[in-house]
Amino acid sequence: KIKNLSKTYKNKQEKALDNVSLDVSRGEIFGLVGPNGAGKSTLIKSIVGILKIDEGEVSLDNIYLSKDATSFKAEIGYVSDNHTVMERLTGREYLHFISNIYKVNPEESKALISELTEKFSLQGALDDVINTYSHGMKQKLCIIATLIHKPKVWILDEPLSGLDPQSAYDLKMMMKDYAKQGNIVIFSTHVLEVVEKVCDRVAILNKGKLIELDTIDNIMAKYGKFESLEDAFISITKKV
Ligand code: ADP
Ligand code: MG
Repeated sequence: KIKNLSKTYKNKQEKALDNVSLDVSRGEIFGLVGPNGAGKSTLIKSIVGILKIDEGEVSLDNIYLSKDATSFKAEIGYVSDNHTVMERLTGREYLHFISNIYKVNPEESKALISELTEKFSLQGALDDVINTYSHGMKQKLCIIATLIHKPKVWILDEPLSGLDPQSAYDLKMMMKDYAKQGNIVIFSTHVLEVVEKVCDRVAILNKGKLIELDTIDNIMAKYGKFESLEDAFISITKKV
């Protein structure tokens, strides 16, 4: 539950987030779209607790981020838009490190690491040092690392950019799968086609404001004259 979130960065006049409220339910894949600078990353950083908000409240099953950040964060997996990993570790060392931080049972984490790296075709590189990885491989490692503690909410900021077609496809399948298991998946993207294919509901942000929040079908019906979400999107975000 995201309630009345507002945020203004220091030395800025405009609000980066302006009174944004939305609820996401279990089992849902939720897409966050909007032009560059709309506030997608700001919203995501605010709800994962790495950016201080000015007003508003974020909660998950009655755990409030403002009151009990540690318990809240334990339920969140967050893939940032600029992945930074510990370059001198091997992939496996990094994943074990993360799993220790989240106090995951070693046997369980071993099994999960092997399952996830296989899904993402990264198993062959697990024992290589991360600084030998390509951009996409680092990204995949980061994505895997955020699932090791089985978060109830998986939040990804522009996760598809930089992935090759196969990896992007694998990730879409993983997101679908993860939501199907009763979790929440929230991700931002520029690729409206992906939103159309994958998301149950979508929020359109523009200049920090939530301007649409609905299923793709309902948004399309509302802007009936458009043939695709892309056409509707261009029109909606131009108007504001
Ligand atoms: P998006 O992810 O949708 O592209 P952002 O959330 O990154 O948008 O940015 C929203 C607005 O906040 C933009 O106007 C951007 O310039 C501003 N902004 C983002 N991060 C910072 C920051 N660290 N300091 C100041 N302004 C910022
Ligand atoms: Mg962003």
